[in-house]
Amino acid sequence: MKTILVTGSAGRVGSRVARQLLDAGHRVTGFDLRAGGIDHPAYREVLGGFDDRAAAREAVQRADAILHLGAFMSWLPADRDRLFTANVEGTRVLLEEAAAAQPKRLVFASSGEVYPENVPDYQPIDEDHPLKPRSPYGLSKLLGEELVRFCERTSGTPATILRFSHTQDASELLDPGSFFSGPRFFLQPKIRQQEGFGNAAAVAALRAIDDGSEALVLSRNQAGRPFRMHITDTRDMVAGILLALTDERAAGRTYNLGATEPVDFAAALPMMAELTGLPLKTIDLPGAGVFYETSNARIRTELGFEPQWTFERMIGEAAQARAKRAS
Ligand code: NAD
Repeated sequence: MKTILVTGSAGRVGSRVARQLLDAGHRVTGFDLRAGGIDHPAYREVLGGFDDRAAAREAVQRADAILHLGAFMSWLPADRDRLFTANVEGTRVLLEEAAAAQPKRLVFASSGEVYPENVPDYQPIDEDHPLKPRSPYGLSKLLGEELVRFCERTSGTPATILRFSHTQDASELLDPGSFFSGPRFFLQPKIRQQEGFGNAAAVAALRAIDDGSEALVLSRNQAGRPFRMHITDTRDMVAGILLALTDERAAGRTYNLGATEPVDFAAALPMMAELTGLPLKTIDLPGAGVFYETSNARIRTELGFEPQWTFERMIGEAAQARAKRAS
């Protein structure tokens, strides 16, 4: 039995990782701004910000391993200070305290936005792709990676960096209220998102196809190319994180972690419309759009990672969750 610190323990990924580790008989410390609602005798929770040194010191106590999975995700200019405080300063403080506690393993949740995926030099994007983030969020993750490698060099804690694919619970995919899937797939949430970003041309184009009723939207770029990206089920991400934690070969390595095949929106959206009975609109958005494929070959070859949840499987579960919400 080991004691494992899971940061972001109230989040999508962290909460599942924490539960799975508890089920496997480990002691878990959760560290998050929010309570995670985990009730288990082997679970201890520290509430606070990652940049709060006293909270970080308390969280790392007795940790044999640290899974730093928590972060602030926002692409809004107004959130920039909070983003760097949580993801960069918070990671620095947490890792300084971690070094004193001398854990045996460290795993860090980075992101494909470090490449970044939306304007890759080549595809499929592998781990050797140049790191040239374009978003402050992607930059905060790249700086986090540097802090992790610095900690590894100076304290001797072997670390694994996982560059996460976009990740969703299956139940989120057909939920217009979902933070990611709402604006990605539903017309009105997408209008609100683009208003928040101040993208006037996108808002105007989207409003032109909005008749006021709920609708799905197939996003394409300005040349009419449908979006394509990886969307990975949280359960597969958890499996990859636990491999990185337990397999000695992961020490010192960096891996892309995500689904094997990207989701082609031209195929996915009609499937979603059929399952929900919602009308499907098509929008050509200004700019190059989203169109990437990321290789997970390294983690599959080296650690035997094998994702189980194809988008088709996820969407079946999403439809059930939507029906349950409606009843
Ligand atoms: P999530 O938003 O569901 O969970 C993140 C958790 O971190 C939240 O519970 C939040 O309260 C906590 N948190 C945020 N700022 C904090 C701070 N300053 N101090 C303490 N706790 C704080 O995110 P997730 O989907 O579970 O993502 C897990 C990790 O994967 C994150 O590091 C994220 O950046 C990364 N990631 C996620 C995706 C995705 O699509 N979900 C894609 C790439 C990378």
